[in-house]
Amino acid sequence: MRQIIIGNWKMNGSRALVDEMAREVYARAASLPCDLVLCPPATLIAPLAQALPGIAIGGQDCHERVSGAHTGDIAAGMLREAGASHVILGHSERRADHGESDAKVRAKVGAARAAGLTPIVCVGEDEAARQAGRADAVVLGQLAASLPEDFTAGVVGLVAYEPIWAIGSGRIPSEADIAAMHGAIRAALRARFGAAGGAIAILYGGSVKPANAAAVLALPEVGGALVGGASLVPGDFLAIAGAAMAPALGRTPVAG
Ligand code: PEP
Repeated sequence: MRQIIIGNWKMNGSRALVDEMAREVYARAASLPCDLVLCPPATLIAPLAQALPGIAIGGQDCHERVSGAHTGDIAAGMLREAGASHVILGHSERRADHGESDAKVRAKVGAARAAGLTPIVCVGEDEAARQAGRADAVVLGQLAASLPEDFTAGVVGLVAYEPIWAIGSGRIPSEADIAAMHGAIRAALRARFGAAGGAIAILYGGSVKPANAAAVLALPEVGGALVGGASLVPGDFLAIAGAAMAPALGRTPVAG
């Protein structure tokens, strides 16, 4: 399967950026060796879906309920109606800024799946855990508690490994550390979901840039990248997507 490059615009972007993406990214998307997903703020989902037909669009969060008295929140079905097919859940910024627990993330994953959205579930350790040698324990603990039992039934979700200390910092783990964590996540997914766990794409996220994308994307069990800052610069996003491994090169197949 093709690698997946996901752009997380966070609380950035405008109609002008939508137009820029339509001009610069859309024309080249068909020739890229990977699939793209763009995750703008909720207000830009519909304009982006209209401007880039055929490119997958994602939300950055959804509520666990389908509707109700939850001022400021957005339901998975609303994202879907606006044109989204994916949703990022459990991003470390949501976990930190909004106190989202693993149980909350798991409930949101259920809501997303029920609405027909593909959840992109983020996990990642902070710097203290990495330095204390607890990165695996933290990440595998989040993974176990954030994914519902039916994660591989019907709509198969994606997992993104995003070390918190690498997000927006310009620092990334060593290639050996990325490969080791992706291997550990794969083993946990297989142990829990059997063969279906082998088909869940595991993306790396955290300071992926044009200069490091090829090396990261060539690592075993890396099924793509979740890109923050560089996804706001069309040329950089295209360069990262262009560095994806074509399936024909014979790497371990991934699905998503
Ligand atoms: C992110 O926040 O998902 C992310 C990967 O950000 P950045 O690429 O800017 O580190």
